[in-house]
Amino acid sequence: MYPRKEYPQMVGFNFPKKKEVFQLIDEHRICVCVRKRPLNKKETLMKDLDVITIPSKDVVMVHEPKQKVDLTRYLENQTFRFDYAFDDMASNEMVYRFTARPLVETIFERGMATCFAYGQTGSGKTHTMGGDFSAKNQDCSKGIYALAARDVFLMLKKPNYNKLELQLYATFFEIYSGKVFDLLNRKTKLRVLEDGKQQVQVVGLQEREVKCVEDILKLIEIGNSCRTSSQTSANAHSSRSHAVFQIILRRKGKLHGKFSLIDLAGNERGADTSSADRQTRLEGAEINKSLLALKECIRALGRNKPHTPFRASKLTQVLRDSFIGENSRTCMVSLFS
Ligand code: ADP
Repeated sequence: MYPRKEYPQMVGFNFPKKKEVFQLIDEHRICVCVRKRPLNKKETLMKDLDVITIPSKDVVMVHEPKQKVDLTRYLENQTFRFDYAFDDMASNEMVYRFTARPLVETIFERGMATCFAYGQTGSGKTHTMGGDFSAKNQDCSKGIYALAARDVFLMLKKPNYNKLELQLYATFFEIYSGKVFDLLNRKTKLRVLEDGKQQVQVVGLQEREVKCVEDILKLIEIGNSCRTSSQTSANAHSSRSHAVFQIILRRKGKLHGKFSLIDLAGNERGADTSSADRQTRLEGAEINKSLLALKECIRALGRNKPHTPFRASKLTQVLRDSFIGENSRTCMVSLFS
């Protein structure tokens, strides 16, 4: 955000109103979307310039403030295209419908589905995945975790899936500084091991059986409260960890399909952390390393490369089965503020 008054050409400039209705949901193996969050109170009071506009359902325009040699200020406009672009009026339900919703069926068809929320701290990742915040309470029924769970239960009732007698389980854990902690078991530290068949196991991770949406909501609340308590004790800890919520389908005990929903740690620019202490800088380096590893895995997935470099970070290691296999589908929701 930049002070609006310094860029007069921005004032009164009318961008096309978004009239297009989201109608067709395209089938992709990877779908990349962006969501812009509304200006918060502070930004509105400061009369900050909104540097992002979304003129249509798949286009983002960035207006970068620049200065000519004679010191006149101007905006350089750049256009980017995504699978979907959501403006600040879009609800979580709307974002869900076009991102994670099309992936629900994948796990019933013996596949792996993965949905990431990516962006800087404060851009709306937790709001999108975990649910709306009103005052200090989070309504977790409005987040993508819960919306996906609701649709999994609905699909479970369909006759062709009902007859498979599938059981539903959920896990919730976080990855902080390369270590895995179980959010459903008092943040017990867990080990990640690869077995002889190259299957990655998070040893001791609690898989809780769930029978209805309310069971899932309770688990999300338990997990979120673990994250929040650490936030106060360790300086915004939660935004510096990746949170992974998984919905697992099993048939006679055997894995049938898995939906991983990930609220990624906030990415950082070097400039943001230059004045931070050593510990904070090390954390930042670890976050950026794992996000880079994730980028490489997604790139390999998108290009159907034979090798996926999942061992480069704990995050990509535990999500290994999301990146391999014919029947894996991913969506990335990038958040802007
Ligand atoms: P992050 O997880 O990326 O650090 P949060 O999800 O905690 O960011 O969002 C930061 C603040 O912005 C929160 O107060 C949240 O309620 C608010 N916020 C984020 N996205 C939206 C949105 N789409 N609509 C309304 N408020 C939002």
